[in-house]
Amino acid sequence: MVRRPADVLALDREHVWHPYGPMPAANGPLLVDSARGVRLRLAEPAFGQRELVDGMASWWSAVHGYRHPVLDAAAAEQLGRMSHMMFGGLTNRPAVELAARLVELTPGELRHVFLADSGSVSVEVALKMCLQYWVSVGQPERRRLLTWRGGYHGDTWHAMSVCDPEGGMHELWSGALPRQVFADAPPPGFDAPPDPGYVERLRALIAEHAGELAAVVVEPVVQGAGGMAFHSPGYLRVLREACDEHGVLLVFDEIATGFGRTGRLFAAEHADVVPDVLCLGKALTGGYLTLAATLCTPRVAEGISRGEVPVLAHGPTYMGNPLACAVALASVDLLLAGDWAGEVARIGAGLRAGLAPAAELPGVREVRVLGAIGVIQLDHPVNLPAATEAAVRAGVWLRPFRDLIYTMPPYVTEDADVARICAAAVAAARAG
Ligand code: PLP
Repeated sequence: MVRRPADVLALDREHVWHPYGPMPAANGPLLVDSARGVRLRLAEPAFGQRELVDGMASWWSAVHGYRHPVLDAAAAEQLGRMSHMMFGGLTNRPAVELAARLVELTPGELRHVFLADSGSVSVEVALKMCLQYWVSVGQPERRRLLTWRGGYHGDTWHAMSVCDPEGGMHELWSGALPRQVFADAPPPGFDAPPDPGYVERLRALIAEHAGELAAVVVEPVVQGAGGMAFHSPGYLRVLREACDEHGVLLVFDEIATGFGRTGRLFAAEHADVVPDVLCLGKALTGGYLTLAATLCTPRVAEGISRGEVPVLAHGPTYMGNPLACAVALASVDLLLAGDWAGEVARIGAGLRAGLAPAAELPGVREVRVLGAIGVIQLDHPVNLPAATEAAVRAGVWLRPFRDLIYTMPPYVTEDADVARICAAAVAAARAG
């Protein structure tokens, strides 16, 4: 029996949690039947639309769009071999090939790869690597983390502790989470030169806490879910220098920015800085399957192996999942085989032109674009139902939050669809 869309949605409201959603749900989601290219096909028309251009690329991940023949073929081929096998005592070709490819692609000496099953877990693993490193080298007192306000690193416990502590999504837990050190968010503006006063304060804070810091953990260049803020790459160089001076490890969370989104393959490349630990996820599988990776340098791995417990004590059931790894490998190779930088620049130009009219609207604080990321920031919290409806009426899927209407479309989005996304975002800004 195939249920009618209305019945599926009734069951959804009754039983299924959605991200940051109440139970039972107040506003029903839209039911998607299928997707192809950059379009989501709804089971039933919503506000007169049956198909929506996906301005969200499934939360930064579907960079090649949906049902790409190369990725479909990679998945089918791997399904014909095995979709999963345990990673303890066994290994598989896709996991090994993917790890080797990531080592090749990422800057510097990032040589060792933990294949985690979600972005949050890859952050959890990164933090665990750093804490375990200091235990192993005989400085267990170094167990706090320094991060920027306004960050977002995931929803698991330790990852939440390095998210924005105020007004962010995890404020509820602030009293219970590990107590970290928070520096002010870097001053905004990708092109703005680093602010000397801010740099001095940042250096002083790192110096003050150096003896108890395991690592500095930040999202390079773009703070995503914490506020879609862009900052100068110069601050990353400051962090690298200060960490080196005090022996503190540096972790970059490139789960959102990795694989070209900011115009460089990895955002750290804007600053020519290499972290000790790097987290990747989202676009890693082109949005097909859940997979993330934590890469580290030999310093970190060798430190851990010198310890009393010489193993990294982490091993999720779906670690190194061959199906996800096979698709990830195909996705990364597909990206590199094409002109991803050209596509990102083309989309960026389209976003700049198409979102510009929003800057004139009352209630809009700022319009900003970096790489293939476009943001309209309002001067008030967005009216989510009204803004979403306006975008859907314009044939586009957007998911505004806080005071932000933003888009990071698939890299295969054609100019006409980029323009459509922009028109929808401007309509959402008007309505929301
Ligand atoms: N880190 C960053 C920078 C993110 O943007 C996200 C997700 O939005 C995460 C970590 C968490 O990843 P996941 O949702 O796959 O657990």
